Amino acid sequence: MSLSNETIASLRQRLSSKEITPTDIVNDLVMTIEARNPEVGSYLTVDVEAALAEAKTADVSKPLGGIPIAIKDNINVTGQPCTCGSKFLQGTYTAPYDATSIQLLREGGALPLGRLNMDEFAMGSTTENSALGVTRNPWDLSRVPGGSSGGSASCVGGHLAIAALGSDTGGSIRQPAALCGCVGLKPTYGRVSRYGLVAFASSLDQIGPITKTVEDSALLLNHLCGKDARDSTTLDVSFPDFTKGLKDGVKGLRIGLPKEYFIEGMHPGVSAAVAAATRQLESLGAELVEVSLPHTACGVATYYILAPAEASANLARFDGVRYGHRTAIQGDLLEHYMNTRAEGFGPEVKRRILLGTYVLSSGYYDAYYLKAQRARTLIRMDFEKVFEKVDLILSPTAPSPAHKLGSISKDPLKMYLEDVFTIAANLAGLPAISVPCGFAEEEGKRLPVGLHLVGRPLDEATVLRAAYAYEQSTDWHQARPE
Ligand code: GLN
Repeated sequence: MSLSNETIASLRQRLSSKEITPTDIVNDLVMTIEARNPEVGSYLTVDVEAALAEAKTADVSKPLGGIPIAIKDNINVTGQPCTCGSKFLQGTYTAPYDATSIQLLREGGALPLGRLNMDEFAMGSTTENSALGVTRNPWDLSRVPGGSSGGSASCVGGHLAIAALGSDTGGSIRQPAALCGCVGLKPTYGRVSRYGLVAFASSLDQIGPITKTVEDSALLLNHLCGKDARDSTTLDVSFPDFTKGLKDGVKGLRIGLPKEYFIEGMHPGVSAAVAAATRQLESLGAELVEVSLPHTACGVATYYILAPAEASANLARFDGVRYGHRTAIQGDLLEHYMNTRAEGFGPEVKRRILLGTYVLSSGYYDAYYLKAQRARTLIRMDFEKVFEKVDLILSPTAPSPAHKLGSISKDPLKMYLEDVFTIAANLAGLPAISVPCGFAEEEGKRLPVGLHLVGRPLDEATVLRAAYAYEQSTDWHQARPE
């Protein structure tokens, strides 16, 4: 069996028994990527030389020693491109430093290998907003991998990587993980440093792992958390060894089913898979409780005011002066900005900048931005109330399995609705996971479905524990695309 099919946990064993070396893993991955990336399109670039050099000196006695991790192309890795899926940064920017998450992974012994495609500046749900190429779903190459971390999920789901990092602002780790049949975890806001992650919406963004198993998710999370002097929003709290409590089971856990989430319009294959998963958790000893999150209906609208507002501010730095694309057209300073930005950004990014600038402008600020901030507080309070009664909240990760390429990306509103189940966790800052829970059939194809579990702030341990208990009682995580 190719080493690319393995998990972090299994490679660790084989490395420590000296059966294989980190160089074997890198060589195997590079061969797999060369063979399969042309059709899947997960990777934008792979610096083979750097990876081989790092493999040679990797310390396999460390927890992640010699394990290659693929990286979404909005997280800085020294000496490598960091395009954010945008023409703005392609060929004009090389990362001069490591993001804190990369530094921590390296301290754990891991080596970054490969840059992964994504929706431009992480704006999208299909990866079709990338200006740099198409990424396909490994389960059906005519379909999208989800987004914005579509490169991360497709390479893990398609076994072109061992594990990957993604970023999640409104669901971009969990939704593509669901669509590609892998595990995606968004940590509590403030758990993981955002230093070195190119900012989309700073009050919502979090980096997290996309892996083949829940155990691997815990293994990676162990090397991502912690207070960082370079990100003042990181929380100064200790964190457990997330692999420790994994096997404690779900007996006695109370799991809330929000009545607002189980409504019409969902794909029947998704409803059926999630209903079966719910019964499975019950049979494992969890107690299911109907709960209400009354402000659910405001979620998507609130997000699509706040995220563009923050994006419009964060993307102001792309001005053709400091770094990235610069127009060749001669003109005064204002023309310089306008031409640079018109040429460098794609349509979805421009749409968000326009929306964001509009809702922040005087005269509209109170009506939109301020109101959305108030709605955000109400959404957070909904969760606080429900978490007095339950330990976790369960829903599907996405309302439908992977769409055909080109089928929803042309309709932004339809695309925004892909996020109904995931964005509330970002608005409320909560940890959440997507774990494979079966398949929905479409046109004779089996398309992965994800189960979404949301936990209390800083309670990733319970989220992981329940996801692990469910995963181990099923064999969905062992299914592989042909
Ligand atoms: N799909 C959402 C958006 O387009 C979420 C993106 C994300 O989480 N980065 O904004």
